[in-house]
Amino acid sequence: MDLIGALPIGTATPALRSWRRDPGAILTISVLVWALLTCSWLAFHWGGTAAAAVFGIWYDAPIQPTIVFLCWRLTNLPTLTVRQRRGWRMLSLAFASYWMGSTIWNVYEGVLDIKPVPSLADPFFILYYPLAVYGIMCLTERLPTQRERIKFGLDCATAAIGIVGLLWYCGLRNVEIDVEHGVLGMIVSAAYPIADVILLLAVVSAVLKRHTANFPLILTLLGASAVAMTAGDLQFLLPSLEGTYSSGGLADLGFLTSFVIMTVAAHLQFVKAGDQQRFATTTVRPYAFQSIPYVTVAAVFLLLMWEIRTQLLAPNGVLSIVAMIVTGLVVMRQIFANRENAELSAQQAASETEARYTSLVKNSSDLVIVVDDDLRVTFVTPSIDRLLDVQVEAVLGKLVIDLAHPSDIYDIRHFCRDLSEDPSLTGPVEWRLRTGDGSWTYVEVIGSNLKSDPTVRGLVLNARDITERKRLEDELKHLAFTDTLTLLANRNLFNEQLGIALARAGSRDPYPALIFADLDNFKKVNDSLGHEAGDKLLAIAARRLIRATRSGDTVARMGGDEFALLITGDSSDAYLRALATRLIDALSAPYDIDGKQLTLSASLGVARAERGLTAQELMRNADLAMYRAKAQGKRCFEVFEPSMYASVMQTVDLEVEMVRGLDRGEFVPHFQPIVDLRTSEIVGFEALVRWQHPERGMLAPGSFIQIAEDSGLIERLGHSMLMQTCELAMEWLGGVKPERLQHIAVNISGRQIEHGDLVGEVRQVIETLGIPPHVLVLEITESVLMQNVTAAIEQLTELKRLGVRVALDDFGTGYSSLSHVHRFPIDILKIDRSFIDSLKKNDGSELVRAIISLATALELEVVAEGIEKVEQLVHLQRLGCNFGQGYYFARPESAEVTRQMLKSTARLPRLSLVSGDAAAAPIRLSAV
Ligand code: C2E
Ligand code: CA
Ligand code: CA
Repeated sequence: MDLIGALPIGTATPALRSWRRDPGAILTISVLVWALLTCSWLAFHWGGTAAAAVFGIWYDAPIQPTIVFLCWRLTNLPTLTVRQRRGWRMLSLAFASYWMGSTIWNVYEGVLDIKPVPSLADPFFILYYPLAVYGIMCLTERLPTQRERIKFGLDCATAAIGIVGLLWYCGLRNVEIDVEHGVLGMIVSAAYPIADVILLLAVVSAVLKRHTANFPLILTLLGASAVAMTAGDLQFLLPSLEGTYSSGGLADLGFLTSFVIMTVAAHLQFVKAGDQQRFATTTVRPYAFQSIPYVTVAAVFLLLMWEIRTQLLAPNGVLSIVAMIVTGLVVMRQIFANRENAELSAQQAASETEARYTSLVKNSSDLVIVVDDDLRVTFVTPSIDRLLDVQVEAVLGKLVIDLAHPSDIYDIRHFCRDLSEDPSLTGPVEWRLRTGDGSWTYVEVIGSNLKSDPTVRGLVLNARDITERKRLEDELKHLAFTDTLTLLANRNLFNEQLGIALARAGSRDPYPALIFADLDNFKKVNDSLGHEAGDKLLAIAARRLIRATRSGDTVARMGGDEFALLITGDSSDAYLRALATRLIDALSAPYDIDGKQLTLSASLGVARAERGLTAQELMRNADLAMYRAKAQGKRCFEVFEPSMYASVMQTVDLEVEMVRGLDRGEFVPHFQPIVDLRTSEIVGFEALVRWQHPERGMLAPGSFIQIAEDSGLIERLGHSMLMQTCELAMEWLGGVKPERLQHIAVNISGRQIEHGDLVGEVRQVIETLGIPPHVLVLEITESVLMQNVTAAIEQLTELKRLGVRVALDDFGTGYSSLSHVHRFPIDILKIDRSFIDSLKKNDGSELVRAIISLATALELEVVAEGIEKVEQLVHLQRLGCNFGQGYYFARPESAEVTRQMLKSTARLPRLSLVSGDAAAAPIRLSAV
């Protein structure tokens, strides 16, 4: 089915719709219809005098304003170039002028019934020509050079004079001029054919220039319009000069045709304007009009020959022939000269181009090397001097690979062979070339195979200096792989090196080993002395590590205070142990930071690679060993053993079990008595946690307290211990002498102070259970307080406000010096067991004495821990220490046993009783 035919009325195709909407289209159609009517009148003179007035005289009245409008609306079309728009503006003005002239003439002829020559209409008619010529010129591209334009003008003049002459010869000379018109009339009349010819020439030249014009069809139409106009002018001019002109003849047909074509041209330009952009960048070429003068000369001479054909032997005939031959010869000479000129300019252009290229190649910063198939240099640009500091002569004839870095020679051979076989391969590739002073310059090379080019015959290697770029790349790489603080390798580089070492191991190289080092208590340095001091310390530590290792080993900072060493050479057990010891010694030597002497230690984990072990697994092993070393008490190293991994797995299991144990109430306090050393009377107890494990029996805190700390379970555990202890204490307080329960101590973990709401918990216990606050002693280790001094002081102050007492546990083992103690709002100092241990020998008493006198000065009570021997007790008594605890008196016991102990009147061992009788045994109710 025909789709268009099937469309309902009213739904026109887009083309039709736009045609209907366009007033230009309606006007153009109206002009065509009007022109047809006029033609039919011209042919048949129908309709009497009224029709004669309309179609004989005023027929052009509606057409010209239409043309003026159609041309004018093109002047605003953005798709046209400025020059083209100017062209249409000129054409619009030209027709406006013509319209004026025509209207005046129609008044003469139609109203006044006169046909004056010259008339007022003539200036307007004549003005039409220059405007139209200029307009048409603007519609073609401008000739590129001034000389070209002058030549074009001369050609036009030659052709115009020739053609006017021919016109005169053919017709005008026979016209009997009506002398009434006078000289002015003759001049005006002569101006028309000349102007017509110029107009024609403009059109012809424009059409000839059509390959430079963007719209040949429209130019052709303009040409046709001009031809019709000229024909009309001649048809008007001859009869009107003879005084026989009247409207409605062939002249008007010429004009009418000219106008109609012009209307169509202007309208088409509007419709096609959208296509212009495609051509907007067409390059301008010289016009193809050069033969017209010669044709004109030939035509004039032919006419001349015709004119003198009967008097060829008469003097003027002979002279004419001579003139013709001479002119012909001159013309031929001119043609040859032209051709020679063209050749010369072509040559000149070529040599200019060559000179330009030579200069470009010579001065180019790039290096161009041409090599033959044997890689022998056949050409090289002088830039080699600048780039490589090598003379051209030193390279010519040599092999290009002689210039190259030994490790690039293989690549160069391959590249050139491939390029020689497959010209589409061009690179770029990067090579190093030797400079005059023996250093290497990085170049990027692009190759082209010009073996088939007779002027080159070789492979062209275009090299560009990229040393600077390489340097930058290296710098960036360096940055990406360096720890900026210590200038050691960073984690990225370490991982990369480890990967390489593992890949090589086994076949060529021995398996590498890893050492992880972590500075013990580094956080405290940062916290107490500031990050700047911490950074300085890390930099010193880094230097010490470098000094302690071999140059082939990689030392890296993995972040924070963690360092890693990759040992690639000797990784025997003996060597690694010796190295680890050396490293610990190096890292543990005192650090001088801004005049302050700091002592730190380090814990090391050592792991050796073996077949099938990935980098990740190796790092995990070293990490585990390091944590084991830390757990062992720091300042030591551990070599990884598979059992460590198993213990990690156990830890995970234990954590799960602990959660369950907490839910089931498997954690209970045991109690160790605290004794007045002077009387051996019990004054209180320290609660120590025990785990009644359903399968493994009673567990001491050593096997789970660290896991509870690490997992955070210690907060729940601590709370549970506080509650249980206070509940029991309340129960006991009801039945025993209050002197025996002056001191109920509960251990508090650092996490409870840092994260938990310890103050709130203690307040709740006091309020809900009603325990007298001064009975409760919270034991906090020294190192916990030192981690965040300000926060600790704040919390302790709060606690003291509640009335509870605070004991500084394990005193003497922490980081703080004695002078720190006064800063903390504490009540009791507990001297660590290690000091009491040393009391066995006589020399250990000095330190304990100092601690006790410090405590006395600060009005603190002192409790000595871990009294096992009677000698220790004697020492302590002598030093004035009033309280103590230890296996000598009693071990930690269950709540049940403790209750009985409190009720019993049996005494703990008394010095007075045992003195001189070391065999006297203390009470032992049961033991863990
Ligand atoms: P600590 O606070 O220093 O407790 C004293 C430890 O010394 C106890 O070990 C105790 O049994 C032991 N001890 C007492 N007298 C002697 C002696 O004469 N010789 C020897 N060799 N040891 C003696 P225990 O019960 O194994 O507790 C170890 C650590 O676990 C405690 O050290 C404490 O830091 C921690 N801990 C125990 N219970 C708790 C608790 O409920 N909460 C928290 N956070 N930590 C607890
Ligand atoms: Ca304690
Ligand atoms: Ca202690």
